[in-house]
Amino acid sequence: MTFAHLPAGYITCRLLYNQFKHRIDSWNCYLLWGLLGSVAPDFDHLYFWFINREQDQHLNFSHYPLFWVLLLIFSAFWFVIDRKSQNPVSAFMVSFGGFIHMILDTVTGHIFWLAPFSYKPFSIGELVEAANPWLVQSFPGWAYGVELLILIWSFSLFSRNSLRACPQSEAM
Ligand SMILES: [Zn+2]
Repeated sequence: MTFAHLPAGYITCRLLYNQFKHRIDSWNCYLLWGLLGSVAPDFDHLYFWFINREQDQHLNFSHYPLFWVLLLIFSAFWFVIDRKSQNPVSAFMVSFGGFIHMILDTVTGHIFWLAPFSYKPFSIGELVEAANPWLVQSFPGWAYGVELLILIWSFSLFSRNSLRACPQSEAM
């Protein structure tokens, strides 16, 4: 996925807000960590650009689903132990954003879901292409269509938030 990770992070923050609002002191802080998590796996672009341009970018640990699952489990434990501060919520939003990133990358590209135990790539796009080649041939830009839908969804949530006062309007 190319440009929809940040919008997807915004959608995640908005959809989970009601679950966490009793633990959120600052909407800005909550949003910042949620957005950061949504793009964090792609920080390995730096490794790709400056160190090793040969390797498949999704072979770096930041694109291992297991890494994000472990962080999710850790943040869930932290959430249970620390019942007052916003920090566990921030940790959860980073982890969850990273995990959603794995799913989105699987839609339009491939992810090694069982890494580091197995390096068999999995791609929903390739699965659809194998099952219905005519569908992909008829809509060659389908992946950008998915990204566009995510963008429209996030924009609609954002504009709805801007049009009426809501609890998180601290950021608006
Ligand atoms: Zn990625």
